[in-house]
Amino acid sequence: MYGQAIDKIVYWLEKARDVALSETQRKELDLLIQYYRSADLKTWDEYNVEWAGNTGLSVDYINGFIETYGDPMGMKATWEAVVDYKDTEASKRTALITENAQWFEDHSPVDPQYRKEKVTGVAASVINVAMLGGDCYPASPLGINLPNSNWIRTEAGSKSVTLANITDAKDIVARGSGFLEEFAFDQAEIDRAVKYGSLSDALHTDMHECIGHASGKLAPGTDPNALKNYASPLEEMRADLFALYFMMDPKMTEIGLMPSDEPAKAQYDNYIRNGFLTQIVRIQPGKDIEQAHMRCRSSIAHWVFEKGKADNVIEVIKRDGRTFVRINDYGKLRGLFGDMLKEVQRIKSEGDFEAGKNMIEGFGVKIDPDLHTEMLSRYAKLNLAPYSGFVNPVMTPVTDSNGKITDVKIEYCSDYLGQMMEYGKNYSFLPAW
Ligand SMILES: [Zn+2]
Repeated sequence: MYGQAIDKIVYWLEKARDVALSETQRKELDLLIQYYRSADLKTWDEYNVEWAGNTGLSVDYINGFIETYGDPMGMKATWEAVVDYKDTEASKRTALITENAQWFEDHSPVDPQYRKEKVTGVAASVINVAMLGGDCYPASPLGINLPNSNWIRTEAGSKSVTLANITDAKDIVARGSGFLEEFAFDQAEIDRAVKYGSLSDALHTDMHECIGHASGKLAPGTDPNALKNYASPLEEMRADLFALYFMMDPKMTEIGLMPSDEPAKAQYDNYIRNGFLTQIVRIQPGKDIEQAHMRCRSSIAHWVFEKGKADNVIEVIKRDGRTFVRINDYGKLRGLFGDMLKEVQRIKSEGDFEAGKNMIEGFGVKIDPDLHTEMLSRYAKLNLAPYSGFVNPVMTPVTDSNGKITDVKIEYCSDYLGQMMEYGKNYSFLPAW
């Protein structure tokens, strides 16, 4: 059965190969096909080196058994695929971040010996997704930075993308859902989120992907696998903290990425509110946090809360039996993000498994049961789904009398279940069909 699925993947990749945009993209697709046929991980590496080096294409994709986010052991990868095209206008923003990548690295709060002397190969762009597949469908990521292998990132570079149409759609739906009115502390916070939420989310994702993941280096002799099952959430923390720390840097307004530091404040509000309160609505009562990004956000929010307690940097406030968080000092919070970034980078650079474990287990896994019950009941009243998903457009090629494709007709279906049934009918090879 598994073999049949691989056959299908290869079938479609061969079609893609025939319409590759360049010789290099064709070569890369050939390697990917070869890997699916042989299951040889060396070929997978070769493919990734080729893929990472192919930057500047107007149409690109990801395809493979890639991320291990869903496995707390960090061993099993899920299959995912995305086909995308470049958003040229918005990519100017990521170009600006990339141009300044070395400046950010040189000014990071990380111990100088763990900074990168030369930041290379961060190819960042903003894309629009044309089709989601596997683990990216229907709940899509907002940013993607690949390949994951450290040695490929060092030697061949990496590609980093922000998914613009997905981010925009999410923001538009979130407004007017009643979510902010329920969970934000006051009207000022709501206003900031409405005004700057889209920009601040996009920038956070850009910085997380383009410079966060690309920053830092290991100490000589450190085993890149030393952090084992904690590697994935710690890596996400490193990238998030890098983005959070620099969002409030005057450099951001100086180079024209933000009009003022209000978008940064909106990001801080949102990040703490989510990591401390709202993300737990995705988890069933009595369960721990297991997903890597969620462990990351919980660890960061709880760590800075704890470290900033003496100065009352973040305050937990009860109002009419409902819990809120309020940030009292954005500047100090930025300092705490910097302190934590320094420590997380040290853990990664030195492969300090114990410290990494303590940070995640101490701040990122457990949920206060009373708070959990409260959050679930407040959330239930809003009648919202904890994850949002997307349906794929239906694309039909238009051909001329010679059979040459001249256009593609795009239609949207509005029914997720209908789309799943349709996929099952047309593409499934399971005996049930
Ligand atoms: Zn990431």
